[in-house]
Amino acid sequence: MRFPLVLALLTMAVIPVWSQDTAPYRVLQGAGPAGFGGGELPAAEVADHITPEQRARIKAQIEFNRERLRREGVLMRSSVASTPTFGWPLKLAPGLDDPGYHGVSNFVDQDPAFPGALLDYDCLDRTYDIDGYNHAGIDFFTWPWGWLKMDEETVWVVAAAPGQIVYREDGNFDRNCGFGASDWNAVYVEHADGSVTWYGHLKTDSLTEKQVGDFVEEGEYLGVVGSSGNSTGPHLHMETYDSGGNLIEPYEGPCNGFNSTTWWKDQRPYYDTALNRVTTGYAPPVIPVCPDPELPHASVTFAAGPEVYFTMYYRDQLQGQVSDFTLRRPDGSLYSNWNHSSPEPHYTGSYWYWWFDIPVGEQQGTWSFTAEFEGQTIVREFSIGGGTAALSGRVPQYRVHGTQLTVTRGEGSTVDLAWGASCAEGDSDFVVYEGAVGDFTSHAPVLCSTAGAPVATVTPAGGSRYFLIAPGNGAVEGSRGRDSSGVARPAGAGSCFPENAAPSCP
Ligand SMILES: [Zn+2]
Repeated sequence: MRFPLVLALLTMAVIPVWSQDTAPYRVLQGAGPAGFGGGELPAAEVADHITPEQRARIKAQIEFNRERLRREGVLMRSSVASTPTFGWPLKLAPGLDDPGYHGVSNFVDQDPAFPGALLDYDCLDRTYDIDGYNHAGIDFFTWPWGWLKMDEETVWVVAAAPGQIVYREDGNFDRNCGFGASDWNAVYVEHADGSVTWYGHLKTDSLTEKQVGDFVEEGEYLGVVGSSGNSTGPHLHMETYDSGGNLIEPYEGPCNGFNSTTWWKDQRPYYDTALNRVTTGYAPPVIPVCPDPELPHASVTFAAGPEVYFTMYYRDQLQGQVSDFTLRRPDGSLYSNWNHSSPEPHYTGSYWYWWFDIPVGEQQGTWSFTAEFEGQTIVREFSIGGGTAALSGRVPQYRVHGTQLTVTRGEGSTVDLAWGASCAEGDSDFVVYEGAVGDFTSHAPVLCSTAGAPVATVTPAGGSRYFLIAPGNGAVEGSRGRDSSGVARPAGAGSCFPENAAPSCP
C-alpha cells in the first residue's frame, strides 16, 4: 500500500494570487480555464559551497594522482596540445525526448569581494558568494522534477571534452538540501593541455566505472546529477582550470576577467529560453520539501467529464515572450485557445498550469494540446472516456531507482526474472506482467503472486516481449511505473488486483 497524502500537504510551491486584470494570460477563443496557478520554481536558486579545506584537499589529491601517472609514464598531458573546446556536459538518458531538462542557476562569480558582491560574465548577477567563497563554477540544475530525475537517473553528466580521469570520489551522501561539511561525489578530468574540469555533486554509486588514469571521450557518461556535498538540490557544478591552474569561466562575455574567449564549441545565450516540458495531468504538480521527490500528477488518460491540468515548465522565461496554447477535441475542432506572458522580467525556472472542467457530454477519444513558444511547438495527446485506443508509452530504457529488473535465459524456453524489494513497506508480494514490445499497453498478468519472492521463472509467448513487476499485498497492486513521458503506465489488458493509483515513493 502506498499513501501519498503526507507529501501532498508539504508543498512549498508559492502560488501567487492574481486579480483578473493582472492574470498573465488571455483567453482568445473557445472555453476559458477553470483556474490557473504557478510561478517561480521554489528551488531555482540551487547553490553550493566548496570549503577552502575541501578545495585544498581536492587539488592536492589531483596533484598526487598526476605525479603517480607521470611516474608510471601514462599521464596524457602534452605541452603542445591546445585548449579544449567543450560540448554540453549534460545528456538525457536514452529513451527520453523532453525538449529540455535543465536550467543554469549560477555562473562563476567574477567579483573577488564577498559576501554580496556579485558579477557574472555578462555583467549581471546570476552568481553567488558567501563569506570566504566566490562561486567558482557553473551550476546546472535539473528541471522540472530534479529529485525524480535523480531517482530515475534520467539526466547524465558527461565529459564536456576528452581527457584522462585524474581523481574521482564516490560514496558520499547525495540527498543534501543545504550546506554542512560533507564531501561530494565527483569526477575530475584532465584535458590534453593540462587543463582540468571538475564535475561535482553526483549521485552516490552512479559514477562511471572508469578509474584514475583511464581516458574518457567527449560526451562519455561520468555519473548522474545529484546533490552530494554542500548543495541545496540536484545540480551539476562544473568548474574548470586552465593548464596553469587558473580558474576559467567557459562563457565568453564582457565581464569575464578570467579568460577572453569562450571554451564552448557552441556557446549558448545568457538567457537560454525554452519550454523544458509540457504535461497533462489530474492535479497541479507538487514540489515538496527538499529532498522528497516531486509529484508531477501527470496522466494521459481521463474518465469522461474530467478536470484536466496543463502544466508548462520553462527555463529563462522572460517578460514579453508569448506562449500560445490550443486545446482541440478528437474531431479537430477548437475547444480553447489562450496565451500567456510572464509577469516578471526573468525567471530562471518557472512553471504555469491551467485547468479545465471538461463537461461529461464533450467528445470522447484522443484530444490534443499544443503549446507554441519561441519557435518551439510541443503537442501532447490525451484520451477522455473509454473505448478509445490507449496512448502507447515506452518501457524505461534507463537505469531506474532500486534494483533494476534483470531477465536471463532459463532452462528450455523459460526466462528467469529477478528484481528488488518494493520501496513501500507492506508490499509482501509481486505481480508479474508480460506484453508485446511495440504495444506497450498489451501487458497482462502471467503470475498474480510470487509468494513474496523477488524472482520468477516464466515461459514467454513468441516475439519480442516485455515484463513489468508490480509490488502488492494481495489486496491492491502498486505502481507499474512511469512511461517515458513521466506518466503512470496504464493498466493494460487486465490486472490481478486494483491499482493503488497514487504511489508515494519513487
Ligand atoms: Zn556550484
